[in-house]
Amino acid sequence: MTGGSTRYVNLDFAASAPALTAVADRVADFLPSYSSVHRGAGYASMVSTAAYEAARRRIGEFVGARADDVVQIVRNTTDAFGLLASAVPDWGPGSVVHLDLEHHANLLPWQALGSRVVAARETVADTLAALEQELARKPAALLAVTGASNVTGEVLPLAELTAIAHRHGARIAVDGAQLVPHRRIDLGSLDLDYLAFSGHKLYAPYGAGVLIGRRDWLDAAPPYVAGGGAVRRVTVTRTTWADAPARHEGGTPNVVGAVALAAACEALAGLPDGALERHESTLRTRLADGLGGIDGVRLLELWSGEVDVVGLVTFVVDGYPAELVAHYLSAEHGIGVRDGRFCAHPLLDRLNEGRTAVRASLGLGSSGSDVDRLLDGVRELVDAGPRWTYGADGLPAPD
Ligand code: PMP
Repeated sequence: MTGGSTRYVNLDFAASAPALTAVADRVADFLPSYSSVHRGAGYASMVSTAAYEAARRRIGEFVGARADDVVQIVRNTTDAFGLLASAVPDWGPGSVVHLDLEHHANLLPWQALGSRVVAARETVADTLAALEQELARKPAALLAVTGASNVTGEVLPLAELTAIAHRHGARIAVDGAQLVPHRRIDLGSLDLDYLAFSGHKLYAPYGAGVLIGRRDWLDAAPPYVAGGGAVRRVTVTRTTWADAPARHEGGTPNVVGAVALAAACEALAGLPDGALERHESTLRTRLADGLGGIDGVRLLELWSGEVDVVGLVTFVVDGYPAELVAHYLSAEHGIGVRDGRFCAHPLLDRLNEGRTAVRASLGLGSSGSDVDRLLDGVRELVDAGPRWTYGADGLPAPD
């Protein structure tokens, strides 16, 4: 190691954020009550059912869900959009409109339905105008947008986007995977129709996420996962389905995951107002300014300085393949970052000619010294290493 300390530095919170102690404790407290949900009459079964339904309520409260919203427990954000795609009314080709900066989770289900794509413009105002024009040209059932980009960290103007969607008779669905862990969201006051997010990015374990929003589409949709619990009555020839959320949650649900996610929501809600935002914003500025000050480092951004940004920075180092930068930081400095196209290929096409990049992302527990370790590592690489280029075969080769 040339980095001095051998303490592992996790700068990959945007991929998955380690579970909080409060979350692990809640899970440990719950485990003795482990029993069948919704169907058992035993005491442990009743406790499990109550815990599951209380978790559903707490998760909804955390994001300001309205009383009549449905909170569907799903596996993750990807699953949430799969469910929503099966529920969006079919208004023919182009029923769904989205931008070209989305994570694939909020792109592939819509692409499969024949969605209309609006390219993000040079400014936020021009992007909003382009979306408005597209929705005015032809109505859409749904405008699907990212809350915060997992590549640039930029936060989209949700109030304006919601107003545009509603003005043209569309609903709005927000990919909250990168937003909810960093900013307080109030579904009701923003008037959002649907919000999706993942527990594993919100300091809870893998395996539970949510889709929250308007009941009518979910009640009218075919069951997303058909099975026990999703029905009112079954004969050998006919099934009467339950309403949402049970309608889409066939089979034994992930009660532990829901309990853990609710505990994470409570832990975040318990932080002093604005503390998380201030902590991350200070570190993000230090990270972005530091990287920006290194010769040959370029940050990937769409609307530089125009919008709020959550705690992540994606960058390329001129002359060094992203894979090499990430492996160097890991092997030589014990720093975990992420490299790749971040499941947002169209955005990487725009911002980096389709090439891979490196992402450093912050969270609760990140510190100024974590950021400085990364900056030192990148500086050391740039100062010392041979430069690389891409050969005609598209593979990196040393100059
Ligand atoms: N949307 C965004 C913006 C994301 O960053 C991610 C995770 N990389 C997802 C959706 C998908 O989340 P999950 O893998 O938990 O389904």
